[in-house]
Amino acid sequence: MKIFDTHCHLDDRCYKKDLKETIQRAYQNEICGFMSVGTDKKTSVKAVQIADEIENCYASVGFHPHYAKEGSDDEIEFLKKLAQKNKKVKAWGEIGLDFNRMYSPQQDQENMFIKQLKAAFSLDLPVIFHERDTKGRFYEVLKTNADDNLKGVVHCFSGDKQYLKKYLDLGLYIGITGIITIKGRGAELRSLASFIPKDRIVIETDAPYLTPAPHKNRVKRNEPAFVKAVFLTLSRLFEIEEEKLSKILWDNSLKLFSINI
Ligand SMILES: [Zn+2]
Ligand SMILES: [Zn+2]
Repeated sequence: MKIFDTHCHLDDRCYKKDLKETIQRAYQNEICGFMSVGTDKKTSVKAVQIADEIENCYASVGFHPHYAKEGSDDEIEFLKKLAQKNKKVKAWGEIGLDFNRMYSPQQDQENMFIKQLKAAFSLDLPVIFHERDTKGRFYEVLKTNADDNLKGVVHCFSGDKQYLKKYLDLGLYIGITGIITIKGRGAELRSLASFIPKDRIVIETDAPYLTPAPHKNRVKRNEPAFVKAVFLTLSRLFEIEEEKLSKILWDNSLKLFSINI
């Protein structure tokens, strides 16, 4: 069985001392594909370095909406060059809008979102989208600025049925995190999951955040090995045997990022 963690932040300093062991634990749990996601210039550079060192580990580059106010045209240009010269860069992101924390003003978030969409289209890269509590604004900006080449994933999907349908109509994949494993908080996501076509789902940890159950009772830090908990929850929910589901999700992940392994 092969499982792909389509969204993790391996550059996070919490892995500084034991990244090797962390990846070993992932392999032991049959997780053997990784997308290490950048959130600003520094973390994107680091994600690319990490991807270079780990087998079947890929990287994305981009400015997360939290850091939009620190981004500039020059830095987008820098990331474009980084993406062009490194074969392990397979996506642009994570980009989008986050009105939950508001670490950057809305206007800065929207400007960086639109500029980076253009950058991704110009490089023909799939986009990793981040959306939180934007009450439709994320979709509006995306729909207005998307072109026919749009491909990507709404990571850590947390919308309702209406937006699920809208994202699917745009041709996007839906990223499911460990939230689906959590009793109360995951109930809505579990009820919506059956409406996602099987060829449009990918799974992710968003590690080191969002530790799934049952691990969250034991450790605070999430890691790629724990995407297995997301996988097992989906297998039970869809009543699809593990072997079969792993093949579906693995193929979706490779298709989303145009990876050939
Ligand atoms: Zn995110
Ligand atoms: Zn993330």
